[in-house]
Amino acid sequence: MIRAQSTSPISFINFQLLATVTLTFTAAKALMLMVTERLPHFIDPVIGAASRKLSFKQMQNGTVIIGGALVAKLDFDTEHTEINWPQMAKSAKTVLDFFPQLKNTRIVRAWAGIEGFTPDNLPIIGRSQRFDSVYHAFGFSAHGFQLSPIIGKIMAELIDTGKTDLPIDAFSISRFHTVTAATAE
Ligand SMILES: Cc1cc2nc3c(=O)[nH]c(=O)nc-3n(C[C@H](O)[C@H](O)[C@H](O)COP(=O)(O)OP(=O)(O)OC[C@H]3O[C@@H](n4cnc5c(N)ncnc54)[C@H](O)[C@@H]3O)c2cc1C
Repeated sequence: MIRAQSTSPISFINFQLLATVTLTFTAAKALMLMVTERLPHFIDPVIGAASRKLSFKQMQNGTVIIGGALVAKLDFDTEHTEINWPQMAKSAKTVLDFFPQLKNTRIVRAWAGIEGFTPDNLPIIGRSQRFDSVYHAFGFSAHGFQLSPIIGKIMAELIDTGKTDLPIDAFSISRFHTVTAATAE
């Protein structure tokens, strides 16, 4: 289990494991999303753009969820987020460049969700180097949903057998040793 609380004015998360281990290298960001009114089904795949900030998917109920790593203003202490509407307008413009037929579609809601980002935007996965019964799987940096099936498999293998056949060394917490000093593991 992970505890999150802010520790500094530069909005770092202080992850306190139950064993009182402290990590101070994961930054919190509040990613924004907006959702349209229900539309007749028109697209199946999730759409991303290589050169523009866009994540676009139509849900089964017909609404379209639009994001793209755009961040809201975040007060981490109060967990309060404030939508950046000018950024959202840019996002809407991007959508219209790809899907001009949505010109008169209503946006019904926008929100932001708080998430931890590591300095290299890669998650931390593996067994703690200090506590045998502590396993890390956090810092997904906006990619947690799509990774969750394989992360679940890896964690189950690690906890059950102590190892996994998949190469997870690149995700070890030890890559941050120089940043986190003696307390982080
Ligand atoms: C707006 C938005 C859109 C996203 N879209 C996508 C997407 O399209 N595809 C994708 O792959 N990923 C997406 N992500 C990322 C994905 O949601 C995360 O990577 C994923 O949820 C991270 O999972 P997690 O279990 O590590 O952390 P979380 O889901 O944040 O879970 C951490 C849990 O710990 C709990 N917790 C925190 N502090 C404490 C405490 N002190 N005590 C007890 N419990 C505590 C929290 O309540 C929470 O339930 C999106 C994220 C956001 C914010």
